[in-house]
Amino acid sequence: MIRQLVLAAAVLLAGGAATAQPKVIAHRGYWTAPGSAQNSRTSFTKADSIGVYGSEIDVWLTADNRLIVNHDRHHKDTGIDMERNTAREITKIVLPNGENIPTLDEYLELVAAKPHTRLILEMKSLSELQREDLAAEKIVRALRKHGVLERTDIIAFSINACLAFKKLLPDTKIYYLNGDLPPRSIKELGLAGIDYSMEDLRRHPHWVEQAHELGLEVNVWTVDSEEEMKYFIELGVDYITTDYPERLQALLTR
Ligand code: MG
Repeated sequence: MIRQLVLAAAVLLAGGAATAQPKVIAHRGYWTAPGSAQNSRTSFTKADSIGVYGSEIDVWLTADNRLIVNHDRHHKDTGIDMERNTAREITKIVLPNGENIPTLDEYLELVAAKPHTRLILEMKSLSELQREDLAAEKIVRALRKHGVLERTDIIAFSINACLAFKKLLPDTKIYYLNGDLPPRSIKELGLAGIDYSMEDLRRHPHWVEQAHELGLEVNVWTVDSEEEMKYFIELGVDYITTDYPERLQALLTR
């Protein structure tokens, strides 16, 4: 009898694991929604309004050591560089939806008011390792100040940045973006998992299973077509980062 119960439980668990669906992350916020723009505060509001798991942002440390939210290092043809110009100069830039580039502080104020959506915070690689360490410290301070640390995951291309965060936040999930390390190296570094491009994961599809065997998680970006979404759902990733979160949600509920 006990043996039968154990077997039944094992079957249920296996079935549950096999049907686990990836969680949806809005890439640079839900910026493809009407009235939105990449990394704008509205993009977080829009992401929150459709009930995604998380919404991603990109963070730079400016020349005057302030934190701002934007993706590209250079703003179009203006010559403004997110790391070489001051926060005052950068936050004057108007986004396509009419908002200004936000400071991290302004952004986190909004995140704090939307408790159902996780923040996926990418720290951009900076020109010097020391500046990355400083940025990590400042980001952690800001997350604490706004009370959103518990629902923030950190992602970075820079191993130095990942390790700086790991030192400051041993319990926070930190994922590596650069696609060049196998899961066992990520495990040795003590990180939570890999967050790799579609191209990298298509080249190494077995990394998904390897990561899971090591107790790591897998996120993939930037998955925008239904065909690509289906491929990675089938592959069993834990998170899918997309510019079209509602398209992915519709596919997952089908
Ligand atoms: Mg990013």
